Amino acid sequence: MFDDILSGSAGFEGSLDILAIAAHPDDVEQTCGGTMLRMAEAGYRTGILDLTAGDMGTRGTPETRVRESEAAGSVLQTVWRGNLRWPDARLENTTSVRMTLAMEIRHLRPRVVILPYWEGRHPDHYRASEIGYEACFLSGLRKLDEETEPHRPHKILYSSSYANVTPSFVVDITMQFENRMAALFCYQSQYGKLEEGAALFPDRQEIHERLGAVARFYGNLIGVKYGEPFVVKEMQRVDDIVAMPVRSI
Ligand SMILES: [Zn+2]
Repeated sequence: MFDDILSGSAGFEGSLDILAIAAHPDDVEQTCGGTMLRMAEAGYRTGILDLTAGDMGTRGTPETRVRESEAAGSVLQTVWRGNLRWPDARLENTTSVRMTLAMEIRHLRPRVVILPYWEGRHPDHYRASEIGYEACFLSGLRKLDEETEPHRPHKILYSSSYANVTPSFVVDITMQFENRMAALFCYQSQYGKLEEGAALFPDRQEIHERLGAVARFYGNLIGVKYGEPFVVKEMQRVDDIVAMPVRSI
């Protein structure tokens, strides 16, 4: 029964403008969901691929979390969401894992890929970053697979909300912040009121304040209320220095 909900991109037609790849269901909602929603509102086709279903989590079964992630994806107006159901908390960068993800990228054909930042406390997050980068590279190799067209994303952004690093840029998500919180609270098993594990899990008010404080911090860096930070490895080009936003003084 689990097999008939959210898996790989087999039934997907067309191509994506933006694909966010994350280790766990609800990572995107905490790190770059506002940007995903803003881009969807602007008319881009967005998708999310979660690599694990959170089977090591204290609360909720993988089936529940995948169903919750589908609801959260609707709030973020994604056109597609998948889950590869790789093992939670023990994600490994193997040839077969990289090949599977590369084939997903060939099928989804995103122009922009958002990955987790490459360092962090949780091994799944930095491993997802590494697997994601290498899969984006592999995906562009013609001889990887005879049946599918090669595809290499134009841009890779690293979502750095979990990492205490200076971002390359910040996206204004002031208009999307509350809906991003609504998407996060679709994960009832994680953020609902349950007796089991109650001492371990802060309540919704606390989560809202905590994520609000993080988004306020990054928003403040660009002179808006709420922001989401990203890092890119390559230099950014500017064509019009007169039109640059964000005041200096
Ligand atoms: Zn995570």
